[in-house]
Amino acid sequence: MAEYIDHDGAAEDCEVPDLSDTEDDDDEEQWQWMDENADVAVTCLFCDRLMNSVAVTLQHCQANHGVSIPDLVKRHRLGDYGYIKMINYIRSVKCSSDSLKHILDGACPWENDDYMKPVLPDDPLLQIDLEELCGPEVMVVGKSDGEQLTDLLVRSQQAEERALRSEEALAMAMQDLHKLKLLAQDLVLNADTTRVSSAAGPIAELREDEDEAYFSSYGHYSIHEEMLKDKVRTESYRDFIYLNQDVFKDKVVLDVGCGTGILSMFAARAGARKVIGVDQSEIVYQAMDIVRLNNLEDTITLIKGRIEEVNLPVDKVDIIISEWMGYFLLFESMLDSVIYSRDMYLAEGGSVYPDRCNISLAAVGDAQKHQDRIAFWDDVYGFKMTCMKKAVVPEAVVEVLKPETLISEPSVIQTIDCNTARLSDLEFTADFSLKITQSTQCTAIVGYFDISFDGGCGNKVVFSTGPRCTKTHWKQTVFLLEEPVAVQSGQDLPGRVTVRKNRKDPRSLLVTFDLAERKLTYSLQ
Ligand code: SAH
Repeated sequence: MAEYIDHDGAAEDCEVPDLSDTEDDDDEEQWQWMDENADVAVTCLFCDRLMNSVAVTLQHCQANHGVSIPDLVKRHRLGDYGYIKMINYIRSVKCSSDSLKHILDGACPWENDDYMKPVLPDDPLLQIDLEELCGPEVMVVGKSDGEQLTDLLVRSQQAEERALRSEEALAMAMQDLHKLKLLAQDLVLNADTTRVSSAAGPIAELREDEDEAYFSSYGHYSIHEEMLKDKVRTESYRDFIYLNQDVFKDKVVLDVGCGTGILSMFAARAGARKVIGVDQSEIVYQAMDIVRLNNLEDTITLIKGRIEEVNLPVDKVDIIISEWMGYFLLFESMLDSVIYSRDMYLAEGGSVYPDRCNISLAAVGDAQKHQDRIAFWDDVYGFKMTCMKKAVVPEAVVEVLKPETLISEPSVIQTIDCNTARLSDLEFTADFSLKITQSTQCTAIVGYFDISFDGGCGNKVVFSTGPRCTKTHWKQTVFLLEEPVAVQSGQDLPGRVTVRKNRKDPRSLLVTFDLAERKLTYSLQ
């Protein structure tokens, strides 16, 4: 309802009864809110008195006629229209205060819409605010069903808008949080890089108990069985050693991480004068038996211990052989130990084998696999589990890739020469560009490595762990993209990759891709 309307001068002519005698303190408080709107001419509802304010009039009705208008509003649950009709009804039928008191609940005689018409022009009693008169809670119950429904709808709409705004704000906060997380991750990883490039590096610094799980995994025969049965791997070492006997003849050879002793025995058979095999895992005790079984104990000496901690029976060696490669080449960080051995024990002019290693990437288009691993979470037995993608995507997958899903030429992102590499080369950032060979969706990036026994060998030996070659136990490493990227045949798909050790576990890797304006970090563990 509107504010009170001023009736210029009217109040001066009014007979204003002195009600002070009849007022008690509570009443004063009850009507106080209307005093600021005084100075209008208001006719009493039940007699001819004119008063100068609505408050005084209502107070007069209660005190002199025993009718509390706010009580009536509450009792009959009147809304704005109901109240107007009641005032006009009282004025038009001049009903007595007594008859008003006896009207039954829900049987209001002013229901007719004719009572919407004011009986007195500019009646100030029709211009009061019901909420102020009776309090806000009455407004809800005081309304008709239709009005209440409209009220509820408006309120629920407002609540919905507020919820939407809150959701948007929350989503933005989550995004900020995610950016902060990446920033913090970057800061932590970068801050530690200096430590890695220092002399020994974290693998050499690892305490025995910290690395226990790693070496105990090599204590079981099964992992060695798998490696020995990987013909691509083992025959490459064998062929390199047997086909280049001149390289080994009368040399002192160090086999870093000898396992079952297979490489030591190849070297011994190829004519090495002395072979020293070192391994920290329990498998070395089997190797000792194996060496004896093959009557090679005069040539081969086996030592149990970490290469970083043992005392070798020689100061220098001519050749270092080792099979140190992990998934995506650098997983396990065993190359750290080979570099350590080289710097510690390799004689001037000596060689490390294998020597040259490449890490390559290629684009993959495999909608089926993407569906199986990522879109799967959109609807699981009728439930959304999309949040799971955040856990699934960042874990690189070691699996054999179908060569027909390759959709680009490979691109070498890092070349390592074991004769010259430093620890700092094992963590790197490289820009790459993948030449796309098919117009489709790129759903993943695959990583793998190639190994060569090269320097000083008349018969070079090379093998690859790529998806187009015979599969090895290293398989390939697949980095799934959460959102596939549309690519066109002939285009270059540019990107940047960063490979780092995980500071929490230096034997595992973190691989970050900047690709198609997205940054994705994968762990390999
Ligand atoms: N040379 C064997 C085994 C290769 S697996 C073969 O070709 O079949 C790697 C081996 O290196 C494991 O047995 C592991 O225990 C050992 N190894 C890894 N890091 C080592 C380290 N720092 N010191 C000693 N042994 C290590």
